[in-house]
Order: sequence, then C-alpha cells, then structure tokens
Amino acid sequence: MSPMSADALADLLADARAGVAFTGAGISTESGIPDFRSPDGLWTREDPRDFSFRRYVASPALREQAWRRRHALWQDPPRPNLGHFALADLEAEGHLAGIVTQNVDGLHADAGSRTVVELHGSTRRVTCIGTAPRAGTPQGCGFTASHAWAFARLDAGEADPRCPSCGGIVKTTTVSFGQNLWPGVLEEASALVERADVVLVIGSSLSVEPAASLPRRAHRAGVPLAIVNAEPTPLDDLAEVRVRARAGGVLADVAAALPARREASA
Ligand code: NAD
Repeated sequence: MSPMSADALADLLADARAGVAFTGAGISTESGIPDFRSPDGLWTREDPRDFSFRRYVASPALREQAWRRRHALWQDPPRPNLGHFALADLEAEGHLAGIVTQNVDGLHADAGSRTVVELHGSTRRVTCIGTAPRAGTPQGCGFTASHAWAFARLDAGEADPRCPSCGGIVKTTTVSFGQNLWPGVLEEASALVERADVVLVIGSSLSVEPAASLPRRAHRAGVPLAIVNAEPTPLDDLAEVRVRARAGGVLADVAAALPARREASA
C-alpha cells in the first residue's frame, strides 16, 4: 500500500488509541477561512507585519480595522467542514486522544471535538492587555469576555473598544507575531503529544515555532508521523504516511473506513 494514500492513513489510525491531531490553518480553508501561506493565502494580499503584537499595541487604526474585519466575519459565522467533523469522530471512536491546533477559529469544538488545545488562543474571547504592554507580553487587569462583548461595543459606536475596568487596550486572546504564548498552553500541548501513539499533522506549513517543534519532537521520540497537507512541508521526509490533498475529503474517507477495520480486527 502506498504511504501516500488515505488507505495507508486509515491503517495507521486503526491501531491508534492515543493519536493526536496537530492542525493548522489549512484544515479551515474549506470552511472559507483563508490560511497565511497557500498560493491564495492572506500573505498574498496583506502585510504580515500588520499581524504583529507591537503594531496592534501601537496603532489605533490597525485595531479598528481588526475589529471591523472580525465583526464582518462573524456576521455569517464560519462552520466546521468534513475535516473537523472527521476528527471529532476519530476522538469519539477512541483513536484520537485530542487535538493540538494552531487555529484560532474555534471550529474543532463546534464540530464536537472535546480535547482541544488552542496553542495560539481564540478569536472568540477577548482580554485586556493593559495600556502599553511591552515585549510581547499582555499586561492586562484581568478583564476577559466573549467576542460578543466587543461586537456589542462596536454596534454601540466604539471603533476600538477599551477595557471597562481599567481603560486598557482590548485584544482577542489570539497570539500575534511577536507575542508570547499564554502561560501553560505549550506544556498542555506537549503533555498530550508525549502520550501520543500517532501524530497526524493536517493543514500546516509547519513553519511557525514553537508550534512546529511538537511533531518534530514526537518523531524524535519514535512516534509515527502522518501528514495531510496540500503542499510539501519541511517534515515530509520524516512522515510514515503523507497525503498531499485537501484535508476534508481525505479525513472523511479515513473516518468512514475505520469501522470496517475495527470489525475486521475484533
Ligand atoms: P499556513 O498558512 O502557514 O499553512 C497552511 C498549510 O495548509 C499550507 O501548507 C497549505 O498548503 C495547506 N492547506 C491549505 N488548504 C488546505 C486544505 N484544504 N487541505 C490540506 N492542506 C491545506 O498555516 P499554519 O501552518 O497554521 O500557520 C499559520 C498561523 O496562522 C498559525 O499560527 C495560525 O494561528 C494562524 N492562522 C489561523 C487561521 C485559523 O484559525 N483558521 C487562519 C489563518 C492563520
């Protein structure tokens, strides 16, 4: 069987009891959310520097633009696709212990996945980061709320909502370039990956650190690696199974193939 097929991936996952899916922006492109580095990704039309913590803090105009965009996106909320639902099935059937995601869209939980570590935070929660945080570390007063709070402030005419407790800058809990990860989250993701019997990378260019170090470390510890991605990645040569295709159909095929394999091995 070719190590490049969805069949080979189903074989690998059929034996898994504590698999971990490591997902990136590519799993959500089929839900209409652009990734960064695809040929038609955000970097073809946006300046990556506008996604930095430093600029967010420094530029009220950039914050206003970010809030306008988010508000517009959530008028017609994105929905999970076949790939998200297939991963929720794989967890429910006992093949996956959980998901470590770089995504900030919340679509894994929407699809029914229960154990999801969001390495880069979430667009669905906002938090105070203080009035002049430096060096990539939020220094807020502790105020936090659903993004619905911010959208209500926008609807009330505030273009750049400020913290109701201390007047600080408010930001989604997403981790921007130059911003440190939230305390504890890398440890939580590492603990899941350390117990993994398979790591399945989906829709990630594996170019953002320290996130990409997790599948690399798993491979070094002898854990089989599988990669489903539309384009080549730097870890392709290390993977036991590689599928270069859109993730939704591949993962749906894999989830559909597993019950027969379970029956055959029962
Ligand atoms: P990336 O943009 O660097 O890479 C995405 C990869 O997914 C590319 O290699 C692309 O070929 C592949 N891809 C695109 N569509 C695919 C599909 N349908 N099936 C399979 N593969 C597909 O994304 P990354 O590695 O996640 O790193 C970018 C950073 O951007 C992350 O830190 C993440 O936080 C952030 N981000 C998140 C979202 C989101 O939450 N949906 C969207 C954009 C960016």
